[in-house]
Parts: sequence; C-alpha cells; structure tokens
Amino acid sequence: MSAANEVVVAAEPLRALVRGIVERAGSSEREAQLVAEQLVEANLTGHDSHGVGMLPRYVEALGEGGLKPNQQLTVVRDDGPILMLDGNAGYGQVMGFDAMALGIRRAGEHGVAVVGLANSHHLGRIGHWAEQCLASGMVSIHFVNVISKPVVAPFGGRDARFVTNPVCVGIPAPEGRPIVLDFATSRIAMGKVRVALNKGERVKPDTLLDARGEPTTDPAALFAEPGGAILPFGEHKGYGMAVICEILGGALAGGLTLHQRPRGRAIINNMLSFIVDPRRLGTAERLAVEAEAFAEWVCASPPAHGVERVLLAGDPERAWRRERGSHGIPIDATTWTQIVDAAATVGVDAAAVEAIARPRAG
Ligand code: NAD
Repeated sequence: MSAANEVVVAAEPLRALVRGIVERAGSSEREAQLVAEQLVEANLTGHDSHGVGMLPRYVEALGEGGLKPNQQLTVVRDDGPILMLDGNAGYGQVMGFDAMALGIRRAGEHGVAVVGLANSHHLGRIGHWAEQCLASGMVSIHFVNVISKPVVAPFGGRDARFVTNPVCVGIPAPEGRPIVLDFATSRIAMGKVRVALNKGERVKPDTLLDARGEPTTDPAALFAEPGGAILPFGEHKGYGMAVICEILGGALAGGLTLHQRPRGRAIINNMLSFIVDPRRLGTAERLAVEAEAFAEWVCASPPAHGVERVLLAGDPERAWRRERGSHGIPIDATTWTQIVDAAATVGVDAAAVEAIARPRAG
C-alpha cells in the first residue's frame, strides 16, 4: 500500500478517540483513560502491532464476553514480597497498571517483589510495565504467556503450539537512557504479521510456515483456517526462552499453559514479574556508573555497513517517540477502517472519527 493511502493522526486526538470508544463500550473514565494512554503509547514507540489497531479486537472481545469491563484485581495471595493476583479477564491496561503499582510498593518495602498476574486480558506492550517500574527506580523482569489460538511453532516443529510469549527487562540508567529490552519470542510479533497483511506487504523469508508446515512469506497464511505458524526467534535458544515464558509466565504466575486450542477468541495474558530495588541491594550507584560506562563503550563500536550507529534496547522506542510525538502517528487504511467501524459499533459518530485524520503526504 502506498503512503498516500495511510492517514496520520496526532497523539492527543487519537487518545481522545480511544477514550470515547472504550467509555461508550461500557468502561469507567479511569479505565478508558488507561487503555487510551497505553494503546497510543505503543504507536508512539513504533509498535503499531500493539497500538490502536488492537481496539477493534477489544470491542469484539467485549461483545463475545472474553474481555470484561470495569474489573478489579483479586488478591489471591499476599505474603510480604509475594503478591499473587488475578485479573478476572479485565482490561490488561488496568490490571497490569494496578499490579505493577502494588508490586513497586512492595519492592520499596522489601527490596524485591514477585508479582504473579493471572488471567488478565491482553497486556499490550510489556515495555509499559518495565517503564512503570523504571519511573520508581526499579529493575524489573517480566515473563509473559498468552492463552489464545496457537500461532508459533516449536523449533524443529511444523505447526503452531503456543503464542508469541514476550519477555521484558527494564534497567534504570542515568541520562534518561534506561534499557528496556522487550520482545516477542517469535521471529516477529503476531500483530506485525497483521500489520503486514493490512498493508498488503510480504514478511521476510524464514519467518512463517504455511498450514502444511512449508516456508512462506505470505502473511495471509497465518490467518487462514487452518492457519500456519510463525517460527521462534533465535532457533533453539529463542524457542527455549518461549518455553520459559510459557511455564513461568503461565503456571508459576497462577495461570494456565497452552496444551489445547482454547475455545474462545479472547487474548488472555499471564505475567510473572520480578521487581528489584537496586538501592536496597546497595548497588544502585554502581549500577548507574557501570551501565553508563558500558553503554558508552558498546555503542562506540564502529557501525556495520548500512547501520547508522550501534544502539541499546530502548533507544529505537525513544527515537520513535520523538518522531511521532512531533509528526503524528501513521495508520494504514485497513486498520483505520476497522477503527472507524469499531467506533460505529458502539455508537461513536463516523464523521467525528474521520475528522481527526489527515491523509499522509505521499
Ligand atoms: P522488536 O522485534 O521490535 O524488538 C524490540 C526490542 O528490541 C526493544 O527492546 C528494542 O529497543 C530493541 N531493539 C530494536 N532494534 C534494536 C537495535 N538496532 N539495537 C538494539 N536494540 C534494538 O519487538 P517485537 O518482538 O516485535 O515485540 C513488539 C511488542 O510486542 C513488544 O512491546 C512486546 O511486549 C509486545 N508483545 C506483546 C504480547 C502480548 O501478548 N501482550 C505478545 C507478543 C509481543
């Protein structure tokens, strides 16, 4: 699809639109605000796969009953630095936020907190949760699994057995350059296959298998029935990490692992988070000094051909935030139509929605 078919929307009107749709779909003002902030933040950080393009799916999930508005966390176990929580299929943007707020407080008291969050609806971009911890000076590690239709094949396998299980680590660093490593353990995130499909683009070779287990670059193969599979990243090593996310993020956090195809179409996430206060370890200063020195050292490596400069995890998102914060968020035509349709489903006027978008200059 050419850039001319895309629209561009500034962050604030986009937030207002998402807030309006989520409120009309039955959520409280606070819930709608958190959903809007986090979906738009995913677009602002360059992760369109986890941005406002998810909203039409959320509206469907509300209709199907797999996503439940206005839920509160249930505390299943509260034992000093250990917090086991259940998200009751509520919006992940609320369950994740509230779970991290509780965990950060506990890590402040005990130096460390282990937070199991089971049965939340889609937690979105996991980097948000690391960033929430970073805002309080905390290191955090998050393992996540996904209970939804399997879309990722095991290393050496030919069909999908689990989902895109993300892992995320946040490390505070001075100079406004914290490290946020946050990725799906599949070769690409599921939402990025959807974005490629919506844009009419192919994916890179060695990314997808079709329904017969043969390599393909056609994103439609993943969404066909029966569908294909995404390969795990990093061969056996990435596959191993996906298994760890499945079992720790799923079972140790109090949720399920995938061992059969779920009947519903909801996207349920389970997440196990370790939150550590480096001040309580007595190493906060060392961490700050060493992290900065290492960043300077490693990024001084001469760039390879075609690479502008060596980056650290977290740098690309900061660059996207600057770019899209100033110039707006491009949204492909298919995704935009789906958002306009979702708005209409809950009674938001299409003309008012269209009014906030401008065509992208070719
Ligand atoms: P990705 O492949 O874009 O990788 C992102 C990570 O790599 C970031 O930490 C980024 O800072 C770092 N990075 C990128 N380019 C770099 C470079 N040149 N040098 C150094 N570091 C670099 O991410 P992805 O796998 O497409 O995942 C996208 C998002 O999807 C993530 O936010 C993830 O949490 C989310 N996700 C969520 C779910 C869910 O169920 N909620 C499932 C899968 C993925």
